[in-house]
Amino acid sequence: MFKALLLAGSLLLTSASLPARLAAPVTHRTTTAAVYVCMSKGSVAYHSTNECAGLNRCSHEVQSMSTTAAEELGKRACLKCF
Ligand SMILES: [Zn+2]
Repeated sequence: MFKALLLAGSLLLTSASLPARLAAPVTHRTTTAAVYVCMSKGSVAYHSTNECAGLNRCSHEVQSMSTTAAEELGKRACLKCF
């Protein structure tokens, strides 16, 4: 629950011009700084593209965020797409 609050804060800081609910499932690439994270508890990586094979297996929501925000969630760079 606390992590969810951190995530919300990070989204507000990194994409202040976007409503948070529109920042979730992204089908187009916006900025080079954005990475994609599967919000599953079992997910350990962030991805440079939302078309990565590692994300295709994700049955949870995929969110875009800054690399910094993803690392604050405890994610590391995906070995397949980085
Ligand atoms: Zn990947």
